[in-house]
Amino acid sequence: MESELRRNRRMEALFGNDKRQILIVEDEEINRMILGNMLENQYAVSYAADGEEALEYIKEHHESISAVLLDLIMPKMDGFTLLRMLKDNPATKRIPILVMTGQKEAEVPSLLEGANDFIAKPYDMPEVIRARIGNAIRLSEDRRLIETAERDALTGLYARDFFYQYCEQMDRNVQGEKDAVAIDIDHFKLVNGLYGKEFGDKVLITIAETLLDVADHNGGIVGRANADTFLLYQPHQDDYGSFAAYLNKEVNSRLGNAHIRLRVGVYECVDQNIAVISRFDRARIACDRAKDNYSLSFERYDESFHKQQLESQRYIAAMDDAMKEQEFVIYYQPKYDMTGDAPKLGGAEALVRWNSKSEGLISPGKFIPLFEQNGLIYRLDLYIWNEVARQVKEWKQKYRFDFPVSVNVSRIDLFSPHLLQEILGIISRNGLSYRDIALEITESACATDTETVLAVVRSLRDYGFEIEMDDFGSGYSSLNMLSKMPINVLKMDMKFFQRSAGNDELMDAMVRLIIDFAKVMKVPVVAEGVEDKEQADYLKEIGCNMIQGYYFGRPMPAEDFEKLLKGMD
Ligand code: C2E
Ligand code: CA
Ligand code: CA
Repeated sequence: MESELRRNRRMEALFGNDKRQILIVEDEEINRMILGNMLENQYAVSYAADGEEALEYIKEHHESISAVLLDLIMPKMDGFTLLRMLKDNPATKRIPILVMTGQKEAEVPSLLEGANDFIAKPYDMPEVIRARIGNAIRLSEDRRLIETAERDALTGLYARDFFYQYCEQMDRNVQGEKDAVAIDIDHFKLVNGLYGKEFGDKVLITIAETLLDVADHNGGIVGRANADTFLLYQPHQDDYGSFAAYLNKEVNSRLGNAHIRLRVGVYECVDQNIAVISRFDRARIACDRAKDNYSLSFERYDESFHKQQLESQRYIAAMDDAMKEQEFVIYYQPKYDMTGDAPKLGGAEALVRWNSKSEGLISPGKFIPLFEQNGLIYRLDLYIWNEVARQVKEWKQKYRFDFPVSVNVSRIDLFSPHLLQEILGIISRNGLSYRDIALEITESACATDTETVLAVVRSLRDYGFEIEMDDFGSGYSSLNMLSKMPINVLKMDMKFFQRSAGNDELMDAMVRLIIDFAKVMKVPVVAEGVEDKEQADYLKEIGCNMIQGYYFGRPMPAEDFEKLLKGMD
């Protein structure tokens, strides 16, 4: 394999500290001296004057000898005989042997006996001789290392743990600043789903090959961390913007104009005092950051990320107390029914806010994803649902309204074995009906583990809960899955209304597509994030049923929302 060779070359950078030992086997003293002078700076040189002496020496030192320079014509035991013996013996056969000869005719026979290279007599080209010895040694050592390396079966790259070990090796042997780089494929699941696993594999292999070329050029090493994340450790580079651009262009052109997007996260000039694995964690954090920003395909790890990590840890640690202190408060955002002549209050979404004594008001975007990562979200959501149910019960007693108030159900919640029991308990304890609370489940929750999610959602639906598919159009669930999903309402993702220059046409087309899709599914559509009259009018015109957004009302404290209810009566 070609790439095997390339990898071998790269290993050279990694292993270069102690002087290698070489043995010169040559009967003429003048020749021994010439060669010795030439090589002693670079190698620890030993000498033997004939085949027998050499054999004795090699028997004792074969573990530490890196190469043998062998004269062919010698007394006692000639070079051919020794060569054959060394290559026949498993203990010595890996030692590269360079045959020294003045006769062209001797080359082929010695090659056939297993010689690795030749050095031509007279020894008048020291540079060539040194290069040949170096190459022979390098190849043999690399092969040994390569043979023990754990590799990823698909791409042939180093497997993760092994890769980390090599990074440490590189720290020891290569001076200078180094960068930890994580490379990730955007929506790889989608690529696999759309074009099939075979193409997915081809993408992975192409990326691996491209990265190997890059690493070759820069003197780095490449590993594969998991499905679609690659790791690169290399001497510091100045311009990762161009790096990411090159990588994207090259991979896509090698694939024949595909539309693969690679994200690059870099932790530059790594702190070599922290564990290799943490360095790549940082690169991956940066990489995840690049996910949020479509116009950017690379991101640097910097101290603000670190601050953010600390902040995250603080939030997690503070959550318990915050629950006890009732720092989590619920805001309500109205939804307006657009199907009549005038917009009419027709629903609400409960949205959590963290009113922290020490940090002030924290928005859910900052802590919900965090709590989702470690499962804390379920406890918080149970608390929210309880509170919302209590509030709805109170409002129901005071005012007449027949719409449900929606709560958010995180993907994580769906995997709790007690979810159904808990929700039913909340409803019955507050004397509500299943139609009083609607459940918003984000589309992306349905994209993986579909069967489990489907089963849970079906049983909730069977009890009569209204299921709203949130952020519709942002995820990549299959149409097949969506058609099986027992949903009552589609909530169109906000991004369709947050325009950036030049994408209006596409967004409009998407909005209409979604509304058509909803018609086929026979469910109403809620548009979210609607901020102005123009949008609202347009949506009404094309058949959108409900609107939620700043245009009609921001999320507001319960007292304020109550005024809206009062106004309805
Ligand atoms: P979401 O469920 O998609 O909620 C809608 C988000 O859009 C809310 O952000 C809301 O304040 C915001 N929004 C509404 N109208 C407009 C508008 O016209 N323009 C703009 N720019 N934004 C608008 P918020 O409250 O920051 O919540 C963010 C996300 O946090 C929610 O997205 C939801 O996924 C999650 N979340 C909020 N509360 C809860 C909760 O109690 N439980 C769970 N599991 N997740 C929650
Ligand atoms: Ca929602
Ligand atoms: Ca939403």
